[in-house]
Amino acid sequence: MKAICYKCGDYKPSAWKRCTGCDYRPVGDDEKAKSLFCSSHFKSDKELELYSKHLKAGKSLEFKPKDLEVVTVVLNSKQNHKRQEKIYFLKLIGAFLLTIAFMVIFYFIQSSK
Ligand SMILES: [Zn+2]
Repeated sequence: MKAICYKCGDYKPSAWKRCTGCDYRPVGDDEKAKSLFCSSHFKSDKELELYSKHLKAGKSLEFKPKDLEVVTVVLNSKQNHKRQEKIYFLKLIGAFLLTIAFMVIFYFIQSSK
């Protein structure tokens, strides 16, 4: 993923990385959404280049509430996805531990006979 810093227009490898140009790093949902909006995830290379030039000329970017809404939806679904992965992983560990517990119980039942 390619992204630009929406503060100074420098390119950075990913949206939420610290900018090497101005040392700005997005914090919080709003800033993260703005940063993600200025990345190849949402914008073409050409658009990013335009944004970069615009920012480098000393102008600032205007974010429309609607644009950020779309980004926030994507952001939330990503976070939900991560949470679901975590739950799945915990279930897997739970099932594994349960299997071992059953094996141990089974072993003791067998050996006490
Ligand atoms: Zn910057």
